[in-house]
Amino acid sequence: MSTPQTDAPSFSSLPLSPAMQATLQSLGYLSMTPIQASSLPLTLAGHDLIAQAKTGSGKTAAFAIPLLNKLDVRNPAVQAMVLCPTRELADQVCQEIRRLARSEANIKVLTLCGGSTMRPQIESLAYGAHIVVGTPGRIMDHLERGTLDLRHLNTLVLDEADRMLDMGFHDSIVYVARQCPKDRQTMLFSATYPDTIAKLSAQFLRQPKEVKVAATHEASKIRQRWYQVDRDTRLDAVVKLLLHYRPASTIAFCNTKQQCRDLVDVLMAHGIEAIALHGDLEQRDRDQVLIQFANRSASVLVATDVAARGLDIANLEAVINVDVTPDPEVHIHRIGRTGRGDAEGWALNLASMAEMGRVGNIELLQKRESEWHKLEELAPASDDPLLPPMVTIQLLGGRKEKLRPGDLLGALTGECGFVGSQIGKINVTDFHTYVAVDRDIAAKVVAQLNRVPVKGKKTKARLLKDVQRQERD
Ligand code: ADP
Ligand code: MG
Repeated sequence: MSTPQTDAPSFSSLPLSPAMQATLQSLGYLSMTPIQASSLPLTLAGHDLIAQAKTGSGKTAAFAIPLLNKLDVRNPAVQAMVLCPTRELADQVCQEIRRLARSEANIKVLTLCGGSTMRPQIESLAYGAHIVVGTPGRIMDHLERGTLDLRHLNTLVLDEADRMLDMGFHDSIVYVARQCPKDRQTMLFSATYPDTIAKLSAQFLRQPKEVKVAATHEASKIRQRWYQVDRDTRLDAVVKLLLHYRPASTIAFCNTKQQCRDLVDVLMAHGIEAIALHGDLEQRDRDQVLIQFANRSASVLVATDVAARGLDIANLEAVINVDVTPDPEVHIHRIGRTGRGDAEGWALNLASMAEMGRVGNIELLQKRESEWHKLEELAPASDDPLLPPMVTIQLLGGRKEKLRPGDLLGALTGECGFVGSQIGKINVTDFHTYVAVDRDIAAKVVAQLNRVPVKGKKTKARLLKDVQRQERD
């Protein structure tokens, strides 16, 4: 997020408990983001809300703070519920709520998503949860079985509402909202504001206040360039851009899944580590893709808009728009993923003659002219291949074996003898653990981990790429 400007509004102007103020301080949330500044005074006063703001604008805290503010820890009933389109987003929301709730150890936040077995969820619910975060379908399941009691609910949040509608959740959302007490507060968050959202909110929000944070960026931080291409040169142009600018982390947006697949093939053929994120992936594959990209062991994430919406991915050096989107607002969302905080970012755009109308609409919305450059200007900045700094290793064993990141880090820096600075992110999923390590030591780490027990148990370690290759063949 952006560093506080002197005139940025501070949280101290809000009627929050000293404990919450201290938590915000300790998280480094020194000033409110624009969507927080415009919505929190309204929601803390109890109003219903419709809020529109781009990805990465701090919407989660905008709804988490008011729901935590009302929460009574002594009442072991579900008091707030957040609906999200996917498990991944539900997990992100759950983590952010837990961080914001950390001054109060006893707040229970539970995720309820499809793809996991019902029984542990039912047990956790019976044990008592204050806040549930989940996908509409699974929450509906629990309501139908009578395993989720909403009588004490005082806050309902619809996060990424536009995406939930895109995914066909309209009827489940309406069903779930009807089961909630009438006098609750409802907050709806969305990156875009199509008519379908207006219709949905009219059904069960009560005199909502609307806030919208204009989709513009500080022009200085995002350097935007356009290149003209034609059908035959488009995918090769992406290779040229990457070798010229050499960004360590890039998202390349395509308009279709097929284009995503084709681009990954072209990039891989040029020795560039690219992975695709699109709607057809199974959850486990999606998790692996995001883990590899976030831990910097893949250079390029190739994605459709729907697949990438809502994901909190930091540290992007570049966004490449492989196809021009027909919706100029979507363009603004895409490029807003780079140039965050103090960092500068590149927004590199390819457009064919046939797409010039779309480019014109983007210019109108951005109120600035496009800066055109020629593909011929692009030359590889170095003879070295563009390789990501890290490599991902997969270990057998995860949350179900009660493995924690610290256990693995301990083994790597202890008995295996590596230094902490060579080890990157560690992600623990239900059955596997993923660790990113410096490219140079990857083979050694695999060998050591197959020898040295982790948390007293022998494990099996492999390069994730080898695992994936074997599964493909
Ligand atoms: P959105 O839901 O709008 O896409 P998120 O809620 O995921 O955005 O927030 C994006 C990132 O910004 C998160 O990493 C979050 O921790 C951080 N963040 C949110 N509010 C603030 C703030 N006031 N100051 C600094 N960082 C913040
Ligand atoms: Mg969000």
